[in-house]
Formats: sequence, structure tokens, C-alpha cells
Amino acid sequence: MNKNPRVLPDDEYNKELISNVYPPDWVNPEPTPIYNLVVIGAGTAGLVTAAGAAGLGAKVALIERHLFGGDCLNYGCVPSKCIIRSSRIVADIRDAPQFGVHAPEGAEVDFPAVMERMRRLRAKISYHDAAKNLKEQGVDVFLGDAKFSSADTVDVAGKTLHFKKAVITSGARPVHPPIEGLVDAGFYTNETIFSLTERPPRLVVIGGGPLGCELAQAFQRLGSQVTIMDMSPHLLPRENQDAAEILQNTFIREGINLILATKVKRVEKKNGEKVIHFESQGKEGKFTVDEILVGAGRAPNVEGMNLEDVGVKYDKIKGIEVNDNLHTTNPHIYAAGDCCMKYKFTHTADATARIVIANTLFMGHRKLSALTIPWCTYTDPEIAHVGMYEHDAKERGIEVDTFKESFNDLDRAIADGEEEGFIKVHVKKGTDKIVGATIVARHAGEMISEITVAIVGKVGLKTIANVIHPYPTQAEAIKHVADAYNRTRLTPLMKGLFKRWFSWTR
Ligand SMILES: Cc1cc2nc3c(=O)[nH]c(=O)nc-3n(C[C@H](O)[C@H](O)[C@H](O)COP(=O)(O)OP(=O)(O)OC[C@H]3O[C@@H](n4cnc5c(N)ncnc54)[C@H](O)[C@@H]3O)c2cc1C
Repeated sequence: MNKNPRVLPDDEYNKELISNVYPPDWVNPEPTPIYNLVVIGAGTAGLVTAAGAAGLGAKVALIERHLFGGDCLNYGCVPSKCIIRSSRIVADIRDAPQFGVHAPEGAEVDFPAVMERMRRLRAKISYHDAAKNLKEQGVDVFLGDAKFSSADTVDVAGKTLHFKKAVITSGARPVHPPIEGLVDAGFYTNETIFSLTERPPRLVVIGGGPLGCELAQAFQRLGSQVTIMDMSPHLLPRENQDAAEILQNTFIREGINLILATKVKRVEKKNGEKVIHFESQGKEGKFTVDEILVGAGRAPNVEGMNLEDVGVKYDKIKGIEVNDNLHTTNPHIYAAGDCCMKYKFTHTADATARIVIANTLFMGHRKLSALTIPWCTYTDPEIAHVGMYEHDAKERGIEVDTFKESFNDLDRAIADGEEEGFIKVHVKKGTDKIVGATIVARHAGEMISEITVAIVGKVGLKTIANVIHPYPTQAEAIKHVADAYNRTRLTPLMKGLFKRWFSWTR
């Protein structure tokens, strides 16, 4: 446990943050004889579980060893989206002449001010996740390291909490890849990069996944010279190639160096600089940077809780083993969020916490497999997805029809100068039942919810074609896809019948 966690720099905003998420003068309460729920970890999953259960009247204890709010508030979604917002303004000013707006001086980025804005907003948002907020909602909040001491007790800071049910919401942490010389040279992860107050002139990002891509583009726009390295031949390996290609082209245009299908061999510290040695397609190369950001995946926090002794099975890569009801291999212990999920998102942590509340407190049988989980990578353009990809459908033996519309033919996208991108919707072959969709657009993350509602509400493309979308909006692209589906319903036989009807009635 970190007794006095600090978030650097030690300014008024980070002090305000700490006073909310790890109050220095906090006194742990006396435990009640037995809790309905003991929750380990106060990230999104833990906060939602604890607050939701207490709101229903359960006696709940919530334990946090580091910072309330977990990754999302402190080192993830919130700080990254704040700096992405600043970086989008830089891109808008860069592109302003295309809109007839002249900004002859270009954008002048005040990097320390960008980071200060982020810290100010993070501190403001931290009130939602504050320890005292949970206390006010009736949760017993304990600061300290949680460890199971028997099948129905958890120890924290010298106290033993007895539980009927426990929920592990211990989250995940950045993976430190075993690259020779990396530790000696020094590197940033998402846990440290948001403490920067000076812009690194040259930054290499190791990892071309969502985290790497979002931060690489933001730093490039804020004035760093960024290089992304990844073993995969394309960025965002989980996404379809047509989506990733659009992003790659954007990155190249914006001056980001892409070194893909590559392996970082070693890092060397030389005269205060960092030399990256790599091998790519049989050839060796090297280049020099000032700083390194590692975004090479996330490892579940499964160590140090005595899970072995209480029969909770886990895998160091996949995390805590859970069944479809989020039960671990101990019948009294459940898990939610990043510590057990393949899809590590805040909204998944939230959704799994809600399942756990129902299943622990009410003998419910809510299922993980019933969830429809969308996601979005907040690059520019954004890439959002929900449901199945073509390859998922193929693996499951589901035949699909795919409807794809480009934004370069959509009035609002043309007016906005945001024509790059597409929407692609897969339906079960011969039907209008949506099984998956990908959207590449500047605000794809806002648009994917319409498709998610349709999947969850079993609304097909036929109905979407009848839904009036305001003109002109980018969401009209969804209706255009639905119209494209409708056109396939007009069979040659129907067309022939219509022709005869029209000639007969004129
Ligand atoms: C840079 C970045 C950007 C991201 N952006 C997005 C985004 O835009 N949208 C999105 O949906 N997701 C995003 N994510 C992912 C999101 O942050 C996580 O999915 C989410 O925070 C997971 O919540 P959680 O509660 O499962 O775990 P965490 O937030 O990791 O919380 C777990 C908590 O448990 C505590 N803990 C662990 N072990 C113990 C113990 N033994 N005793 C006591 N406490 C313990 C930890 O200290 C931690 O506070 C991003 C992640 C990163 C890194």
C-alpha cells in the first residue's frame, strides 16, 4: 500500500484531487460485525458496486489501496480525453484555411497550460469519485491493502472484515515489456505520463493499440515528434484493416512516424537521450528520442490478495476466472471490471458491477454474455465498434450481409470537412437483424450508441430506415445504410410487378 500517494506535480489541482481520492487525514471506521458485501478496489467497478449496493440498503465495505476513481479518473479516460480535446483544437487551427479562416500564426501550444487544464478538470471531476461521497452514501470506506484472510474475511490496515459476499474489482496495470535497457533508460506509462509539465520534443510510443494511438496523436498535435512502434503490421490490431488504414493515413499525414511489424530489441541511454534499437522485416535500425511511452497492454491486478488460499483461480494474463454470472471459483466471491474482463473499458466495469449487484444481493442470474458492449478509440477520426466483426461471425458460422456507406457522400460530413470515414453494418444474412457495426468518423463514439440501442432493442434496419434523422447530421449515415438494406428488398419480381402497376395506373 502506498501510505501517502502523491500525484505529481504537487500543485493545487493535484492536492485537490488527492483530498478527494485518498484523503490524507482519513480514519478507517470500525468494521460492522458482518457485511453483505466487501468490495476490493475503488475504481469504476468498485465504486458502482459499492454505491449501488449501499443505495439498496446493503451493508457494504469498500477498500482502496491507492486512488479512488482508479485508472479512469486518475490515469486513463479523464486525463487522456482532456488533452485530446486540446490537441483537436490544434488540428482545427491547422486546417482552418480550408474553411476560409486564416490563422497566419498557426497554433501556439502552451504545453504546461494544456496539462494544467487537464489537472484542473480532473480535480473537478474527482468529486464524483470522492471517498467521502461513498461514506455519505452509507458505505464503510477503508484505505489500505486488502487481503483475504479466510474464506469469509478480508484484512485491511490491521482490521478484519467479515463478509457474506465479496467482490474483487482490483483492476489492471500497464504491462512493462521485457526490453533490454528499458528500465535503466526510464520510460513513461499511462500512470506517469499525465504528470508531465514539459513537452517531450521526441517521443516514441511502444504499442499501437487504442492507448498508444490516442496519446501518440495527441502528443504529435501538441508539438512532439512522435514515433509509434508495434509488432503488428497495422495499428489497432483488433479493428478491421479498412478502419485502421484510415487512421494510419491520417497519422502519416500528420507527421507521425510509423514503424510497424517491428520488434524493439533494446534501449540505450546515451548523453541524456534514449536510443531505440529495433528489428523490422529482417533489418536492424535505430533512432534517438527524448522520452518513451509504453502502451503495450494491461495486466490484471491479481497478486497479493491471497486468492490462492480462498480458492479463487486466476491467470496472470487473462485475470480472475469468472463464469457467466461473474462468480469466481469461490461461491462467495465475485469479480467485475478490468481484473476479469477481456474488454477493459470503464463502461464494461460499470455494466459488470451492475450484474454483480443483482447476482450477489438478490440471487440473480444476470449474465455477462447478455451484454452488448460497444467501444471507441478516441483518435481523430474516432473508431467505434459494437457487436461482431465479419471474422467473429465467420467463426460462429453466422452468414452476414454487410452494408457500408462512406462519409464522403454525406451532406453534413461534406459541410463539416469530415468526409474521411465510413459506417459498416453487418446483418444476419437475408434479414435486417443487426449483428455488428463499425463507424470511423470524427464523432463515431457518439454515433455508435444508436446502433447499440438497435441491437439491444432488437430493432432492425427496416425500422431504422423509417426513423426520421434530422438533416443534416452525420448520424444520417446510419439511415443511409438502412436505406441501402431496404433497396435490397426490391427483388426483380417486385420491380416487375410495380412496373406493370404504374403502366396500368397512368
Ligand atoms: C490511458 C487510458 C485511457 C483510457 N480511456 C478509456 C476510455 O476513453 N473509455 C473507456 O471506457 N475506458 C478507458 N480506459 C480503460 C478504463 O480506464 C478501465 O477500463 C477502467 O478504469 C477499469 O475500472 P476498474 O474498476 O475495473 O479498475 P481500476 O480503475 O483499475 O480500479 C481498480 C482499483 O483497485 C485498487 N486495488 C487493486 N488491488 C487492491 C487491493 N489488494 N486492495 C485495495 N485496492 C486494490 C487499485 O488501486 C485501483 O484503484 C482507459 C485506460 C487507460 C489506461
